[in-house]
Amino acid sequence: MKTISQLFENNRTWATGMLQTDPHFFMRLAKQQTPHFLWIGCADSRVPANEIVGLLPGELFVHRNVANLMVHADLNCLSVLHYAVEVLTVEHIIVCGHYGCGGVKAAVENPPHGLVDDWLRPIRDMQRRQSGALSRLPTAEQRLDRLCELNVIEQVMNVGNTTVLQGAWRRGQQVTVHGWIYSISDGLLRDLSVCLSSLADLERMETGGRS
Ligand SMILES: [Zn+2]
Repeated sequence: MKTISQLFENNRTWATGMLQTDPHFFMRLAKQQTPHFLWIGCADSRVPANEIVGLLPGELFVHRNVANLMVHADLNCLSVLHYAVEVLTVEHIIVCGHYGCGGVKAAVENPPHGLVDDWLRPIRDMQRRQSGALSRLPTAEQRLDRLCELNVIEQVMNVGNTTVLQGAWRRGQQVTVHGWIYSISDGLLRDLSVCLSSLADLERMETGGRS
């Protein structure tokens, strides 16, 4: 196990390495950030946002929580979304889930986990709504992985339904919401082909079609 002091050592090595590649890197970053992407992902330590998409500090605005949820009463996520869309004017919002998500698994398990069960409630509700389709999958692992995908799709819709995105699209701002899923077992991202770039896309998705 790494100690706390090792983290500081790692940090010095990393900062020195960055300066060797680009001597003005930190000076430039200190002045401003201009990321084009917002990432809404799971807090899972195995899904490090910048690393898996190969983006440097300053290139990805990040919000992470347990099971990558966009809950309409969550002032934290909404504030991140508001700042990203209205101040940073990001062009892409990526909701990224991952297979084998412990949060999704905890949401549908029976022994109670305490407070996190309240946070995960939307996933439990979704499992109930999708129980017919899920029950046709042969293994518990496949059902969990499908639920992870359905959760991403649901959160893409939730982002699209925020006042922030609705307002941006009404103003004609170019901003697209994507739904991706990451596989911890091979390190690869998959696009779930749920893409919202306008109110019309959202309406199409809500009435059952895919954009
Ligand atoms: Zn997770």
